[in-house]
Amino acid sequence: MSKHSFSLLFASIFLLSACSNDSSNSTNALDATSEIETSVLSDRSIKVGIDYHSQSNPEQVLVTHVSLDLTVDFESKTLSGTAELEYNKQNPSADTLILDTKELTINRISNDQGELSFTLDNDGSILGSALRISLPETGNKVLINYTTSPQASGVQWLTPAQTAGGEHPFLFTQAQATHARSFIPLQDSPQVRVTYDATIRTPKDLIAVMSASNDPNAERDGVYEFNMPQAIPSYLIALAVGDLQFKAMGERTGVYAESYILDAAAAEFADTESMLIATEERYGPYSWDRYDLLILPPSFPFGGMENPRLSFITPTVIAGDKSLVSLIAHELAHSWSGNTVTNATWRDLWLNEGFTTYLTYRIMEIVYGTDRYNMEAVLGYQDLEADIERLDSSDQILAIDLRGRDPDDVFSNIPYEKGALFLREIEHAVGRDNFDRFLTEYFKKYAFKSITTDQFITHLSSTLLVEHSDKLNIERVNQWIFEAGIPENAPMPESDAFSLVDTARSNFLDGSLVASDIETNNWTVHQWLYFLNNMPEKLSVENLTSLDESFSLTTSKNNEIAHSWLLISVRNWYEPALPRLYEYLTTIGRNKLVKPLYRELSLTEKGKELGRKAFAQAKPGYHPLTVKANEGFVE
Ligand SMILES: [Zn+2]
Repeated sequence: MSKHSFSLLFASIFLLSACSNDSSNSTNALDATSEIETSVLSDRSIKVGIDYHSQSNPEQVLVTHVSLDLTVDFESKTLSGTAELEYNKQNPSADTLILDTKELTINRISNDQGELSFTLDNDGSILGSALRISLPETGNKVLINYTTSPQASGVQWLTPAQTAGGEHPFLFTQAQATHARSFIPLQDSPQVRVTYDATIRTPKDLIAVMSASNDPNAERDGVYEFNMPQAIPSYLIALAVGDLQFKAMGERTGVYAESYILDAAAAEFADTESMLIATEERYGPYSWDRYDLLILPPSFPFGGMENPRLSFITPTVIAGDKSLVSLIAHELAHSWSGNTVTNATWRDLWLNEGFTTYLTYRIMEIVYGTDRYNMEAVLGYQDLEADIERLDSSDQILAIDLRGRDPDDVFSNIPYEKGALFLREIEHAVGRDNFDRFLTEYFKKYAFKSITTDQFITHLSSTLLVEHSDKLNIERVNQWIFEAGIPENAPMPESDAFSLVDTARSNFLDGSLVASDIETNNWTVHQWLYFLNNMPEKLSVENLTSLDESFSLTTSKNNEIAHSWLLISVRNWYEPALPRLYEYLTTIGRNKLVKPLYRELSLTEKGKELGRKAFAQAKPGYHPLTVKANEGFVE
């Protein structure tokens, strides 16, 4: 969106919000007017497009560029230096710029005319502290000198011992959803897009990389320059510092990693370039120049993070057989859905994740075939069903109400798999080619914009709902977006490759087939996961032992298979697997893999004791998000 239309929209919204009873400490919408027209089914008190997770005031003063000069200090675990923010006054008489911060120490704020006065709220809420800077009548830049806290929620500092390489310290940031404010004072809302540049000063033996232009041949002199010329939301600003090496995988793709894992990563993800080409052929050109991967230490709390030009990736998917590379397809797909077309608020997260999950399946099908597509879709559907069983109905809604809540606390498969299933239903109704055309147009129309669920519905209403009125209707669309659960007659993924696994499992369970006679030679990792994930809650010691002896499940090197097996082992307190469980919990910090194990352990006293012990040992190396997500299970 051009700055021109931005300011017009903001001006009209300012008038709107002035007469609403909305709290003044929320960021206003790009297009709040759509609420009145379309959001009939959601809670009327939710202001569509209002960012309830930012206290900043872009409708008054809009930050458009951030220029960083930061020194990385592993001793004090701080980033310190300056952020220069360029702004446009949307309201000419505005005299205050409000930014989001979290545990930052603000040393000094100035512009080219001298010092500027400011106040920093003393607020410990999930939103952090609003920083209010008094602006002069003229000028368009402020220079903020600041230092981060060693406990910054968006920065993880690892000692050499806490990395898998073991020799050098490592630092990485994770800004989504609301943690950019813990390392940069800015307007921390996905509807504010900024360009940025940065100078990062590191110890001489380490290099810095960012979600920006990276130079693999940069001289290792401890000073690194970056530029991100495309406007991105703050949650996509990212930095990592470590003893990194680079290896090219294709013309536009490569991998950064510590040397111990560089070759394995480049081999595992060798199909990245093919994925990029396949996605471009279907959904239009890639907008971000290069697409590189950064392999993080095992404590990274997510599978991946779609930081533009440089996705951050957990090493736990390096399995040696490309079985878990759908994660790469997912992060790559975000280059279209998420990074190019962005959710305007965290309520609209499904626009990022549902579209991306849908694209992931499609990319995997193009590169690896329909069998794999079907298997992954079934596993995804089962994850969704499990969440629906577990979650309150209000948390099963795509356009979720997050007011007063930390978006991190509501992480589930709903925006991902339910969002993707909804799009799959539309695809089935209108036909694949028509839907692909629709998506390509959608990515083009909203490129570099941040949009709300209601804007998406309005767009759908004027396109596919008109062109295919015999097959689609708004009631069904609203049911998917605003109601709990999976709508009746939703598409149900199926896989022939899983039917024979079902047969094997039931024959094993009724005793007609012993484990060692199950024909597993040609099974894929997905078939193994399906085999294990659908075992009954309770298994006998004999069954557990024969499975383990026949298939060496306790020592599986595949982190997903190990996860499924360890979950079964906890449920049934299968003691031979417990040392492996302990090792798993203390060497991996990826939340998706450890959280279900801690949750299951918390259900019994002896489980809780083991969980407590593992957690205490692992905690110094866990990311703050992983600590927060699991500490309740070990209290
Ligand atoms: Zn994602």
